Amino acid sequence: LPTALARPLARLIDELSKLPGVGPKTAQRLAYHILRTSSSDAEALAAAVRSVKTDLRYCSTCFNIAETDPCAICASDERDKRIVCVVEEPLDVLAIERTGQYGGLYHVLHGAISPVNGVRPDDLKIPQLSQRLKQGGIEELILATNPNLEGDATAMYIAQLTAGNGVRVTRLARGLPMGGDLEWADEVTVSRALEGRRGL
Ligand SMILES: [Zn+2]
Repeated sequence: LPTALARPLARLIDELSKLPGVGPKTAQRLAYHILRTSSSDAEALAAAVRSVKTDLRYCSTCFNIAETDPCAICASDERDKRIVCVVEEPLDVLAIERTGQYGGLYHVLHGAISPVNGVRPDDLKIPQLSQRLKQGGIEELILATNPNLEGDATAMYIAQLTAGNGVRVTRLARGLPMGGDLEWADEVTVSRALEGRRGL
């Protein structure tokens, strides 16, 4: 960055450029926008950033991001506790919730098995999923990991892990774009994939 830049502005540009998809040019544009914005808007942005780090936690049952533990979904009486949908990331929960078609619970793995990247089953919330299954009451596990190499490998691993314990294991139907992530799919596509799920 040019040294002529005032230090607070340079610092903001530096921080913004660490965000995914934000290059130096965009970071500069955003920084100047924030500089011109009202004090209250700038404060609201700073407070929102701080709040996601201080006011959020992980649900100790499903590991979704939540304000409370257990989260609102796990704590709800309206949800069908016999069905658990296994997803890679918290954003995948949002993608499925947006369809309005799913009334069960979730389990967020926080990633997918990837030998190439050194991600092993124990690095994910897979042991916690085994634990949930052992506690009983779950009749169906919907494996909604992403339709790519890692997502498929993770689904296979979980399917093998649960084999023979009487839980129905299903996988989302194809139709999600191959290699595409669940979080980016539209509601109709996710709805169809959910309805067309098949036994593994
Ligand atoms: Zn939960």
